[in-house]
Amino acid sequence: MRYIISIDATRCTGCRICEMVCSLSHTGACWPERSRLRVVSEETDGRIESVPVLCMQCEVPACRLACPTGATFEGGPVGAILVAAEKCIGCSACVWACPFGASELDLATRVAHRCDLCEGDPRCVKYCPTGSLRYLPEDKLAIAEQRRKLGVLIDLQRLIRG
Ligand code: SF4
Ligand code: SF4
Repeated sequence: MRYIISIDATRCTGCRICEMVCSLSHTGACWPERSRLRVVSEETDGRIESVPVLCMQCEVPACRLACPTGATFEGGPVGAILVAAEKCIGCSACVWACPFGASELDLATRVAHRCDLCEGDPRCVKYCPTGSLRYLPEDKLAIAEQRRKLGVLIDLQRLIRG
């Protein structure tokens, strides 16, 4: 069964612990800029609003369709959308294709990366102090709703930024 990390942005305080534990877990260093999820924060009416952005594990992943080398593929123990580093040429096609902005090139290696669900034990979920992130089994309706909400939030953030 597929799983997804569900986001409740109303609980997110913007503390960025998730970014820190993600980078520590994947690179061995506490380096949030190399995290595989991104906390986007904006000020609205004097309040800071934060939204964690990460891979939504799409059924038909735009990143995989866009990848010219086959470096992006679905696999691993939980069927996450992974990157075969040896095949990645750093072209950014997957970065541009993702509707959520959830793929990036790693700052240090220039290889694409995105959330790999930590082989079924996502560290961001484990250490988020507010319950903003939850690891839930596939429920197509709930996942569709998650993607819709995240898309709306990201569109709003883009509008605010101009
Ligand atoms: S750890 Fe949780 S509350 Fe803190 S920024 Fe990440 S998602 Fe938001
Ligand atoms: S950056 Fe790498 S993974 Fe992304 S589309 Fe290009 S070759 Fe594929």
